[in-house]
Amino acid sequence: MMVRVPDIPTEGLGVTDAAALGTVYRDPGWRLEDVQLRIERDGLDVFVTGELRATVTQTCGRCLEPLAATAAAAINVRLVPRPATGDTVELFADDLDVDFYEKDEFDLGALIEAETALALPMKPLCREGCLGLCPVCGGNRNVVACACPPRPADPRLAVLKDLAARLPH
Ligand SMILES: [Zn+2]
Ligand SMILES: [Zn+2]
Repeated sequence: MMVRVPDIPTEGLGVTDAAALGTVYRDPGWRLEDVQLRIERDGLDVFVTGELRATVTQTCGRCLEPLAATAAAAINVRLVPRPATGDTVELFADDLDVDFYEKDEFDLGALIEAETALALPMKPLCREGCLGLCPVCGGNRNVVACACPPRPADPRLAVLKDLAARLPH
């Protein structure tokens, strides 16, 4: 959904209807559940503040099974016109994210998608204590208890130990 900056009224714009935004996420497994945003303008600066909640599909960092996660993000973004090459942008000292817009408009959907992605855990787990994949046979150890021997000692560790032994004590 493109928002034209000159069309933002002085009293600001409220975005509270997730359905009215249409398709926000490129990933069909992601869904915007709730959105409470204010879009305000101060001269050429645009401020987008509020919060959103989305359900997304992620992949467990250990067993690689898909999992449904909830992303809740607080949004505090300042948009400024993209500067001409060589110009610098004066940044505020507070912790607003600064983003750029071009040709008097910005894509609210893209902003929401980026903010949702930032709110996701980097290494999601399908459950506390997920057993992950067996390094030998690749089986999902949450599902099958395979009879593979335990993983041999990491050769990189052996090198370190060897090195430590040769250092003068
Ligand atoms: Zn897992
Ligand atoms: Zn195995």
